[in-house]
Amino acid sequence: MRVRSIRIKLTLWYTGLLTLTCLLLGGLSYGLLTYSLSRDIDYALRGIADVLETTVKPRNDTMHPAEIDDMFRQFFGFSPLERRIDFFNLTGRRQPEQNRQASGLEIPLSNSALEAAAGGQRVFETIRGENRPPMRVMTTPVIDDGRVVNVVRVAMSLENMQETKRRFLVIVAGLLPVMLLLSGGGGWLLAGRVLRPIDTMTRSANKISAEHLNQRLTVSGNGDELDRLARTINAMLDRIDDSVQEMRRFSTDASHELQTPLTILKGEMEVALLKPRSPATYQQVLHSSLEEIERINRLVEGLLLLARADVGLLKLDLEPVDMAQLCLRLCNQLQPLARENNIALSHGTLAPVLVDGDELQLQRMITNLIDNGIKYTPAGGHVTVSVDKEDGRALIRVQDSGAGVPTEDVREIFNRFYRTAQARRQNSRGSGLGLSIVRSIALAHHGNITVENAADGGSIFFVSIPCIASGESISTAEHA
Ligand code: ADP
Repeated sequence: MRVRSIRIKLTLWYTGLLTLTCLLLGGLSYGLLTYSLSRDIDYALRGIADVLETTVKPRNDTMHPAEIDDMFRQFFGFSPLERRIDFFNLTGRRQPEQNRQASGLEIPLSNSALEAAAGGQRVFETIRGENRPPMRVMTTPVIDDGRVVNVVRVAMSLENMQETKRRFLVIVAGLLPVMLLLSGGGGWLLAGRVLRPIDTMTRSANKISAEHLNQRLTVSGNGDELDRLARTINAMLDRIDDSVQEMRRFSTDASHELQTPLTILKGEMEVALLKPRSPATYQQVLHSSLEEIERINRLVEGLLLLARADVGLLKLDLEPVDMAQLCLRLCNQLQPLARENNIALSHGTLAPVLVDGDELQLQRMITNLIDNGIKYTPAGGHVTVSVDKEDGRALIRVQDSGAGVPTEDVREIFNRFYRTAQARRQNSRGSGLGLSIVRSIALAHHGNITVENAADGGSIFFVSIPCIASGESISTAEHA
């Protein structure tokens, strides 16, 4: 089963990790307890053996059960029910006169222990028998005059130790479920508390739709992860809002721009059809209609180009293009238009710079800029085109002696359908798509476009495109 709720997942993880930690800690504590208890028992057994060595040797007499009790009490703090002190000779025979025990079961002396003790070593063993608790046994030699004369063995039951360990386990086993229950409940509440802002965010986000894009998520301002998430989502909503606004503006402007020529077209045709007309009048109406259709066509083509560029589908037939040659040719081609508007169209430096580009699109880009220069420069003015190579880029410059672009419009003029107030007032031909197309073409060639106002009036448009090679300058400051 796949758990979908983060709250449940967090609680399960939390409880699982805590269980693991508790089990590890419990196991470690149990091991340490066993080690520490065993070590204490061995120390005490060693202590008893040390006393026996010094007391039994000189006295060489028997030990009374009361003495044994005292000794165990001295070293262990209590006298275990099952404890023994046995003396053996070096053949392993028990010395009965010394073995009067107050309690305890008979434990046979193992050969290995006897051998080790006879060789002067102390041996510790744990002896387990049926129906009785295991015994911890220490066998040690009694040395007199540098030689082993006897073997003494001290044994005590591990019952107390086992009881302590059992109690420990019972306590841990009893506490573990209670702890897990408490921690699971705590984890559930904690996860709920932590995730509550996410629920609130989800509810707020659900209310935001294209119609209510101005709504934003509440930002707590405490700088935590959720606060950052809310800020990020809000920033994303800002961008989406801007895009949607732009799209709306765009469709309104596009419809408006298309509507004007269509209305003219319709009006002219309706008027022409009101009564029978001469062939010359019909011809004139058809000419005018064709002009409007061309205008619509240009608009639709421009929109199509921008739409393709937006989704990265602007297809470029790349080939080396000499920007100087291209500008020179366009200056020549646009001379009639310039003359018609009484504008002096010339070129400055034309450094032959090769760019990897689509000649048709580059032509369209420069034509738009020269065309704008002619359009926005009063009669008697001039437009100059130049090409330079700077930092591995072709720098195309189109300068005019017009009124320039008002500072507040500099950032906007590259937006679709944007026209300055002055341009609208003059009602000159134009739809506001030209510079957006120029920018899209420049960007598609990994270039960029900027505009500056010249010190002596007029505007200078700069297009910069990476170049692939360059040669000698063609000419300088000559009229095309
Ligand atoms: P349009 O079809 O109106 O010329 P563009 O996108 O080419 O559209 O230009 C956008 C606006 O930028 C123009 O309406 C005009 O206000 C301004 N502009 C463009 N070129 C120039 C220029 N050379 N001098 C002054 N203003 C310009």
